[in-house]
Order: sequence, then C-alpha cells, then structure tokens
Amino acid sequence: MDKMKKEILFSRKAIDLRVRELAAGISRDYQGRELIVIGVLKGAFIFMADLIRSMTIPCRVDFARLASYGAGSVSNGKVILTKDIETSIRGKDILIVEDIVDTGVTLSYFVEWLQERNPRSLRVCAFLDKRGRRKVTFEADYVGFAIEDGFVVGYGLDFDEKARFLPDVYIMKD
Ligand code: 5GP
Repeated sequence: MDKMKKEILFSRKAIDLRVRELAAGISRDYQGRELIVIGVLKGAFIFMADLIRSMTIPCRVDFARLASYGAGSVSNGKVILTKDIETSIRGKDILIVEDIVDTGVTLSYFVEWLQERNPRSLRVCAFLDKRGRRKVTFEADYVGFAIEDGFVVGYGLDFDEKARFLPDVYIMKD
C-alpha cells in the first residue's frame, strides 16, 4: 500500500464541507421524523459517524455487513448478508449509509432485503458514486461526490483492509 502510487482526490476539508451539506439536507428532509440510520460495514463507518454528528435531528443507528461472492474488489452479482441489522424497521424511516456505489449490485440487494420488512420509507446516502459503472439500475438519494472510474481508498474505504484510517480520499494510480 505504502509503495503503491496514489493521488489525493478529496481532502479532509472538502469532505468535511460536503458532509455538512449532506447532513443539512437530511436534517431538513427528516425534521420531526424518527430516523434509523443503517451503516454498511465496514466502509461506511467513518462517513456515517461524521454524517450523523453533523445532523441536527436525532437518530438511532444500526449496522449491516454485506459481502459479494468471489475474489477481488468488484461485485460479481452474488451478494450475501454476513451481518444483519438488529432493529425492527417496520413502519420506520430508514436511511442506508454506504461508502460507495459502484455496479449498484450490493445496494440493490440490500434495499430489496430491507423493503421486505416494510419500513415506512427507505432512502440511500452514498459518500461516493461511480455512476458510469452500473450493472443494475440504482440511484442513491443523497450522494457526497460523483466520481469517474478508478479505485479509491481512505475515509473508511480500504485496499485489502489497509488505508481505511486515512482522513483524505485517494485515487490509486497504476
Ligand atoms: P457494488 O455492488 O456497487 O459494485 O459495490 C459496492 C462495494 O464495492 C463498496 O461498498 C465497496 O466495498 C466496493 N468498492 C467499489 N469501488 C470501490 C473503490 O473504488 N474503492 C474501494 N475501497 N472499494 C470499492
């Protein structure tokens, strides 16, 4: 990792500003409602922590973990839930928080899984969105930054479990 070339894509300052904007929008949209924020592990944990602390409305939190079958960083179409949420979401307003939408396969699966439990509403907030790489139709309701193709790390996003701790977002080179 350390020897791999990477370039800064979003500085911690730019991230902070954008997260505050997202949090303001979400706070407006869910004013007076009982929001449950569900983070997708592991990548979303830093984004979610910053997001909910910038929100001006209360929320409850839960986490799920999803994995795609097969090796590599690209979903191959088969997703499994390796850690389910522990909260009843029936009749509740739910916001899924994810690190990045790539092919859209992971979130499509998770949204469908949660919809079966009849929440009152269900929206998705993704920190990053690689819109050009969809294999399935999927649109997040709130997006931090839309990005081009390329592999990004930092701010919760890993490369082989490394680099999650980096406060800025980097794009890998080569
Ligand atoms: P999707 O199912 O949308 O293709 O995949 C979403 C998941 O793939 C993300 O939650 C993330 O774990 C992983 N992923 C996709 N693109 C990247 C990337 O550029 N960097 C990192 N670190 N993970 C990525």
